[in-house]
Amino acid sequence: MKNIGVLTSGGDSPGMNSAIRAVARTCAHYDIKCTGIVRGFQGLIENNTKVLYTRSVRGIINRGGTFLYSARSDEFKTKEGRKEAFKTIEENEIDGLVVIGGDGSFTGGLIFMEEYNIPVVGIPGTIDNDLYGTSHTLGYDTALNTATEAIDKIRDTASSHERTFIVEVMGRKSPSIAVHVGVCCGAENIIFPYKKVDYDRIAQDIKHGIKKGKTSSIIIVGEGEKPGMSYNVQRELRENHQLVAHVCILGHIQRGGAPTHQDRFIASKMGNMAVSHLMTSSKAAAICYENGGIKVKSLKKKILKMKLQNIKLV
Ligand code: ATP
Repeated sequence: MKNIGVLTSGGDSPGMNSAIRAVARTCAHYDIKCTGIVRGFQGLIENNTKVLYTRSVRGIINRGGTFLYSARSDEFKTKEGRKEAFKTIEENEIDGLVVIGGDGSFTGGLIFMEEYNIPVVGIPGTIDNDLYGTSHTLGYDTALNTATEAIDKIRDTASSHERTFIVEVMGRKSPSIAVHVGVCCGAENIIFPYKKVDYDRIAQDIKHGIKKGKTSSIIIVGEGEKPGMSYNVQRELRENHQLVAHVCILGHIQRGGAPTHQDRFIASKMGNMAVSHLMTSSKAAAICYENGGIKVKSLKKKILKMKLQNIKLV
């Protein structure tokens, strides 16, 4: 292994920078060239690269986002796109690739590896925590803390005005963020878009709470595929249960900010292990966090397709 490429792909997440830094510095330690690919798979197609030296990654361990930029590339989903991407691999003499991203990025990396035989290692980087085989993905812990802090603030105003708030959190198909912040903020209800919502029960809970002297209610809504589901909940409560609730969609605030200690620490170890794996094996791998330790697991299509029910929630 003389030259390792690293890219970030899909939605950005806090901790991606810490992982890039660890990859670059581990490469430097072993005298391996590290090639940063700018804008994910699209950058690979466009040969948008820069060499990462030890100093190139200074001061980024504590920064949210990704200094290599991230992108979603439809072109990479085509055979022609991946052919172009492989030309970049050849031109830059890259021997192995570290892909930091979510399940889509892992799938893309795996398909690329199967077609061109370039070793690929995935580092799970997404706030959604929706990858099978790892209990944490980079950015998840930071997103949880950001959302928790925001909802605590909403609770203050909800209590002061004796109001019900519907707070929508990110997570697309994964309910992890909704469940965790719901528990940590003492939410009265948690709603997932893909589950049938029992509005009668929710309304009863709220009315019962008010009778008992509760000064506020918080309903957490997982956003699902499209943000805005909270407005349906608000309408339903107003029109069919005569309850007024205010909507607050937390949105992209959850994707930004300085990574927490946990995200930095896991990212640093994962970046280090990704390089170590590429130095000793050419098998497709995912770096996972399990039972408090970092593990290398085989990356297989089957694993990527595991049903969401298998994701441990709490
Ligand atoms: P997040 O969880 O933050 O959304 P993600 O990695 O799942 O991250 P996606 O948009 O699903 O984000 O995927 C990122 C990129 O990975 C896509 O834009 C595409 O370039 C590549 N990719 C995804 N699926 C495939 C596929 N089936 N074949 C080839 N490339 C793919």
